[in-house]
Amino acid sequence: MVEDTRLIELKGISKSFGTTQVLKNIDLYIRRKEFVTLLGPSGCGKTTMLRIIGGFETQDEGKLIFDGKDLSGVPPYKRRVNTVFQKYALFTHMNVYDNVAFGLKLKKPEELLSGVSNPTRKQVKEEINRRVTRMLKLVKMDAYAKRSVDSLSGGQQQRIAIARALVNEPEVLLLDEPLGALDLKLRREMQLELKTMQQQLGITFIYVTHDQEEALTMSDTIVVMNGGEIQQIGDGKSIYDEPKNAFVANFIGDSNILDAVMVQDYEVFAAGRSFECVDEGFAPNEPVDMVVRPEDIMIVGEDVGMLPGEVKSVLFKGVHYEMFVEAAGFNWKVHSTSMYPVGSRVGLSVVPSNIHIMHKMKEQTAPAAEESK
Ligand code: ATP
Repeated sequence: MVEDTRLIELKGISKSFGTTQVLKNIDLYIRRKEFVTLLGPSGCGKTTMLRIIGGFETQDEGKLIFDGKDLSGVPPYKRRVNTVFQKYALFTHMNVYDNVAFGLKLKKPEELLSGVSNPTRKQVKEEINRRVTRMLKLVKMDAYAKRSVDSLSGGQQQRIAIARALVNEPEVLLLDEPLGALDLKLRREMQLELKTMQQQLGITFIYVTHDQEEALTMSDTIVVMNGGEIQQIGDGKSIYDEPKNAFVANFIGDSNILDAVMVQDYEVFAAGRSFECVDEGFAPNEPVDMVVRPEDIMIVGEDVGMLPGEVKSVLFKGVHYEMFVEAAGFNWKVHSTSMYPVGSRVGLSVVPSNIHIMHKMKEQTAPAAEESK
């Protein structure tokens, strides 16, 4: 269970490399035992943010607070965090057990066995064995303890890398696209396993990915980033259902995004007609983005729909069909379990609560759909 205490706080963090500002005044807090995902397209600054938290990079401005204390100048090995990178970086000349035990063997005996005065070698060995065995069981690799890491598959090696990071009992685990090199099936399995482990151990996870499905599957909280700025913070459902702007709407899930004008409260004008919506509080005739999810558009008879149109393409996607329907000069992406062949004349309808109105973004533009996936 996520606790209601702030473990990490980033306050006004900015960072530039040369003339490029990659983080712009970031404010964020992370609670104890929270699974937080930093999600955004390549180059948005998420890895840099993780590296600042880990101590591998220093911010130009702002403060990083850990458990109430300023971490400025504290080197990585003195922070109560551990990192798992995309490349496993295991010691290939050691077997699985020794890879996981490595960090523990470097610890002072009294650190390893706090509360035991003058621990004996035997006690130390037993403690290391207890912890390594527990971690190998947790990542389901206990049967492989004596194997050389070279003989393992990519997924198994990543499990060992995770066990090696967790065995030191960090308060926070930083994970930078740790499943990026795995195939889709294994990736999905590992996502569920990581989430289970995080809950069992009660450790705070900060996870970096550009994969929205991965973020939705695992996170308590998703931080959507673009161009060095936070776009939205929230749980997966609220970000999916109530994206704050067109960037988020396009990055998380599919969207139809139309240039529109908010005529007055509850009335928006787009694609040559007025639509009833549930939004209010915009300036009269304010230019806005109107966002409609493909699964929220109903295909009905041409004469009963809000917009008459023609099916231009059909793709079977496994669970649903994805169709593009040209109507009122816009190519609408529609998801439906029923298939309408190319050339069919159809009507499109959408209920007011499924029309989302957003303020236009000031500087940034929404990414093309291919870039963001
Ligand atoms: P990716 O998923 O591609 O790693 P990201 O969102 O994690 O992207 P960052 O790795 O934080 O983004 O990089 C943000 C920007 O800063 C990029 O343009 C990158 O090239 C640049 N950058 C990162 N580290 C350095 C560095 N040490 N020196 C110079 N530029 C850097």
